[in-house]
Amino acid sequence: MKNLFFLFVVSLWVSFSGFVPVSGSKPLIETIATKEQIVYVTKTGKKYHKGSCRYLKNSKKEIEKSKAKESGYTACAVCKP
Ligand SMILES: [Zn+2]
Repeated sequence: MKNLFFLFVVSLWVSFSGFVPVSGSKPLIETIATKEQIVYVTKTGKKYHKGSCRYLKNSKKEIEKSKAKESGYTACAVCKP
């Protein structure tokens, strides 16, 4: 009887431990997929830029790409973000 109970516990543990990594790895993939691309805007301009763009010399404000588009910003023709 003791052996049967041990087998039951082991099989339960195996099925449980096999299940957890599958459900645990899912949110991680979603987090990577939904990560927002960061672009930069200036105080006066109406374009958004890559962090390395020369137009960001005077002012540089970090913003999510989707938010920049929503706010009416368009992509810079020089750095093509
Ligand atoms: Zn630019």
